[in-house]
Amino acid sequence: MVVPAAHGRAVEREDALDHLEATRLDVLVIGGGVTGAGVALDAVTRGYTCALVERDDLASGTSSKSSKLVHGGVRYLAQHDFGLVREAAQERDLLRRVAPHLAQPLGFVVPLKDRVTEAQMHAGLLLYGILATWRNVERYQTVDPGELLAAAPLTGGFDRGALRYYDARTDDARLTLQIAQTARQHGGLVVNHAEVTGLLRAGDRVRGATVVDRLAGRELDVEARWVVSATGVWAGELHRLATDDPTRIAPSKGIHLTFDRTQLPVDEAIVIPSHAGDGRLAFVVPWDDQVYVGTTDEHHPGSLDEPSVGPAEAAYLLHALNGSFGTSLTPADAVGAWAGLRPLLRPRDDGQPAHRSADLSRRHAIVEHPSGFLTITGGKLTTYRRMAQDLVDRIASADANHAPCVTAHLPLGVHGDGAAGLRRVEALCEAFEVDRSLAPSLFLRHGDAAARVLAFATEHGEADRLLPHLPYLRGEVRWAVRQELARTVDDVLQRRLRVSLRDRFAGGPAVAHTAGVLAEELGLDRQTAGAQIEAYFGRVATERGIVPLQHTLPVAVTP
Ligand code: FAD
Repeated sequence: MVVPAAHGRAVEREDALDHLEATRLDVLVIGGGVTGAGVALDAVTRGYTCALVERDDLASGTSSKSSKLVHGGVRYLAQHDFGLVREAAQERDLLRRVAPHLAQPLGFVVPLKDRVTEAQMHAGLLLYGILATWRNVERYQTVDPGELLAAAPLTGGFDRGALRYYDARTDDARLTLQIAQTARQHGGLVVNHAEVTGLLRAGDRVRGATVVDRLAGRELDVEARWVVSATGVWAGELHRLATDDPTRIAPSKGIHLTFDRTQLPVDEAIVIPSHAGDGRLAFVVPWDDQVYVGTTDEHHPGSLDEPSVGPAEAAYLLHALNGSFGTSLTPADAVGAWAGLRPLLRPRDDGQPAHRSADLSRRHAIVEHPSGFLTITGGKLTTYRRMAQDLVDRIASADANHAPCVTAHLPLGVHGDGAAGLRRVEALCEAFEVDRSLAPSLFLRHGDAAARVLAFATEHGEADRLLPHLPYLRGEVRWAVRQELARTVDDVLQRRLRVSLRDRFAGGPAVAHTAGVLAEELGLDRQTAGAQIEAYFGRVATERGIVPLQHTLPVAVTP
């Protein structure tokens, strides 16, 4: 087996395309969300030559639109899905060990109105601890009414205080990128903006795919012994290239709204009732100087591309917020918003999506077509590693490859524990004379690589903030292009940095700067850079839907 660019040096996107054409791979993974990235990492670390192709950008599908929680899923206890909760809690603990920067402990405060809810929550959180074999971040605690009021200015009659339990938070797009980067460091080929448009066959076997480079317009045939579709809600489209059988995907839409923390001054994540009489809960999660609230969970029969925040969903979340905090927030108060589609699975032999989406299981499924074409979908961000292991186990078993799965212990961007890692970044900020308060955010995005990012930004005279109210360095834009496969304004401002989710103007002056850096680094002409800016604002406006995007197109592209 030829493993290109081993020894930790990743192959550049454009070189990877050449390799793809010239190499017969063991495994070709279609879809660069967290699942596809996980499969690629598992495959390369078991000795397979493997490539991952993504038609848009890494994590541009559902994997950048989640609630950003790495959790066992207290909510699924109500569905009696104890196996899923146990598995997710185990995966959360593994991720905290191998990627402590991307699974940071977070307390969740559940305010209580009456004795019945209090008793139910006590029982649920006790069970949560048991299913996690007492390895939750910490045991759950009681919070008295005074402490509750200090943590969040609630007015919804939560007279019985609260309970606090612990899970973890992540940055979903950065998690996906980190997994893909680790796969690259182990010799995997990762190409974003590369779409699979057809499958190659040899007799009755699928033996590769036709891939179109959407940036250069080049089409190539990629041969592989195994072709895996990890295309989330789009699994049906890929599945239809191989077979007429229907898939069981039942997309469910969820939205989030972002506010300035001054509008919702919470110190911890707060779990509030929906106030809609449906028994559902919403999370209010602090994120530096912003706070986001989500999510909704409704069957989505419409187009799978570019979901958008609709008036009814926004009203549902605002009703929950205003009912609990005594506020009068409207969509115009939100500084950002996002919408995503869960790739949920309908139960077998069930032709109709008659179930409430919120009741459908978050389990995953692997479907193997007689042609050898494999599909993996369903699941959760939290369980991506387990999903990937199950999929690669199938391939390894068919190949009689006895190499064990190593991803449960493979460091993802941080060696050692999180507290020490964060202290290192704080010390580096001081050494590079960068605002020390940026350290937690830099650590979350880059892990151990934060040292290289800080040195790089300083060397380029770009160690100041990209925007005054967001914790990003100007140099991270150039870093994203050179080191993180970013090729468009959208790649940088939506996923490498989460500017579009956190700024009313979706970046304002940072947009022109980003386009300028892309033009400089990639040799883009003015027209292409301008078109990228327009495409970026167009996508953000579509996704925000009812939440207004205030922007003016920048007149000049300036690095
Ligand atoms: P995706 O991320 O959608 O990736 C599929 C990729 O395939 C896409 O990038 C797409 O562009 C690509 N693709 C499609 N067709 C082609 C083609 N022809 N060629 C090449 N590429 C192609 N999970 C949690 O654990 N915690 C949470 O807090 C959480 N919150 C959520 C909240 C919401 C609102 C939603 C919607 C989901 C949430 N989830 C959460 C679930 C989690 O986000 C998803 O399960 C997970 O991101 C799915 O990842 P995926 O890789 O399977 O799919």
